[in-house]
Amino acid sequence: MDGKSSPHGRVYGASSQPRRRISPEHSANVDHLIELKNSERKHMTTLGHLINGARVNSEGRTQDIFNPSTGEVGGQVSLASKATVEEAVAAAQAAYPAWRNTPPAKRARVMFRFKQLLEEHADQICRLIGQEHGKIVHDAQGELQRGIENVEYACGVPELLKGEHSKNVGPGIDSWSEFQPLGVVAGITPFNFPAMVPLWMYPMAIACGNTFVLKPSERDPSSTLFIAELALEAGLPAGVLNVVNGDKEAVDALLDDPRVQAVSFVGSTPIAEYIYGRASANGKRCQALGGAKNHSIVMPDADMDNVVNSLTGAAFGSSGERCMALSVAVAVGDAAADALIAKMQEQMQTLKVGSFADAGNDFGPVITKAHQEKVCGYIDSAEAQGAEIVVDGRGVKVSGFENGFYVGGTLIDRVTPEMTCYQEEIFGPVLLVVRAGSMEEAMKLIDDHEYGNGTCIYTRDGEAARYFSDNIQVGMVGINVPLPVPVSYHSFGGWKRSLFGDLAAYGPDAVRFYTKRKTITQRWPSAGVREGAQFSFPS
Ligand code: NAD
Repeated sequence: MDGKSSPHGRVYGASSQPRRRISPEHSANVDHLIELKNSERKHMTTLGHLINGARVNSEGRTQDIFNPSTGEVGGQVSLASKATVEEAVAAAQAAYPAWRNTPPAKRARVMFRFKQLLEEHADQICRLIGQEHGKIVHDAQGELQRGIENVEYACGVPELLKGEHSKNVGPGIDSWSEFQPLGVVAGITPFNFPAMVPLWMYPMAIACGNTFVLKPSERDPSSTLFIAELALEAGLPAGVLNVVNGDKEAVDALLDDPRVQAVSFVGSTPIAEYIYGRASANGKRCQALGGAKNHSIVMPDADMDNVVNSLTGAAFGSSGERCMALSVAVAVGDAAADALIAKMQEQMQTLKVGSFADAGNDFGPVITKAHQEKVCGYIDSAEAQGAEIVVDGRGVKVSGFENGFYVGGTLIDRVTPEMTCYQEEIFGPVLLVVRAGSMEEAMKLIDDHEYGNGTCIYTRDGEAARYFSDNIQVGMVGINVPLPVPVSYHSFGGWKRSLFGDLAAYGPDAVRFYTKRKTITQRWPSAGVREGAQFSFPS
């Protein structure tokens, strides 16, 4: 895609709405983001918010946005005040009545156009993701594709909202259930999938007739904002989708605003628990997806070459900054463990860590300097607590990018459950190996862990695999599949402290989360027929 053909001069607007243009200032901002080198971007204007169809640059607090590949500051983002959030919620509230009454087929048409714009601007989006997140372009493309698939699912909303109908539930009485939108919905998203996770949320919420206020991660907000602008260009009327950048102040304003009916959150478990508690206490519907510690079981009969290839990608891809990253391998039996360690060690010699811009790299930096230090701190603690550091990624230097936030691929053997590195989510390119005596022991480790997001078993034994998937206390299970991230027409959700709430993200659960059921029972009495008063319960 040609990076110069910004979409932002084009006219957009739903056919039933007045047509508007995105402001030239807004257009210039986006082009700046894409075209300027990081050193030049220090002088760019601060990234603002998207409220009621226009870019808003609020006064007040700001935060630096880094390019993790170079360690340089690439720009600043505004941190919305409570008043700015209230403005966004007011815009969403005002847009709701008309959008709610827009026929689902017309709402779906906007989603079709949105999908097309996302595909046309894929290169620009992936570059923005790379600049601020650090993931390599092929990884960003995968993320974006998974996001687009959620837009595709939302294109089917007329079918998904058809409801349920029963004729003659009683003499001359018909009954049906319909799924009505909630009103204003908020989404709060993490840094690690700045394109995909917001696309888990608002396409379906909006397709169902809600209006939306999104609060993206303040660490890499540019691709998220750019994509939201494409959604407006696709035809969303002003106020249907709003984006406020910010931190805790903005989040708390959303959680406390009585006009916000529901909150979708994805991020770390402590914050997920906080969001769920506060949103629920305020009477809102809430789904809060949290962190993870995804284990794979390596059975003695597994194809070890396949295991090693598969684990390498799943543990180190995206620098391990995925909630579905496989961060623990539980080898059943010492022979399997020794073979795994030997082959992993060999494979890891070929790992290439470096800048997002070089497509030849396997993975990039971690998100911030503080996070780099935190990940290395977990490796230090593993060493201090008696684990064996087999491949050490601490202190890795990338030539030409000496100030980038890099951690090399790290392999740690003889990890035990009491160790800090085992108990907590590291969220870095670190693979722990735990040795277990049996499959039951390996499964117990998984079941005892506080997280239950994803897991995988490597085996050639169908019976063992079936027993595993039937009984393991985890929400998403792979059998020889390392990252069992459900496709868009299933739903995504962990168990235990990886998800607070009853409904998972995207797919069929999202239709239920973003709507409320109303059941109507109807009778039209024939002219002149009158029933006497009935005092028994209708049956
Ligand atoms: P995070 O919890 O630090 O931040 C997530 C969001 O919460 C951001 O928008 C942030 O601004 C906001 N936030 C942060 N602190 C807050 C506070 N004190 N009060 C209110 N809001 C606050 O998460 P992160 O570091 O951006 O993302 C990584 C985490 O997300 C990892 O734990 C990862 O496992 C998890 N994650 C989970 C899933 C999933 O589907 N389960 C998917 C992606 C990421």
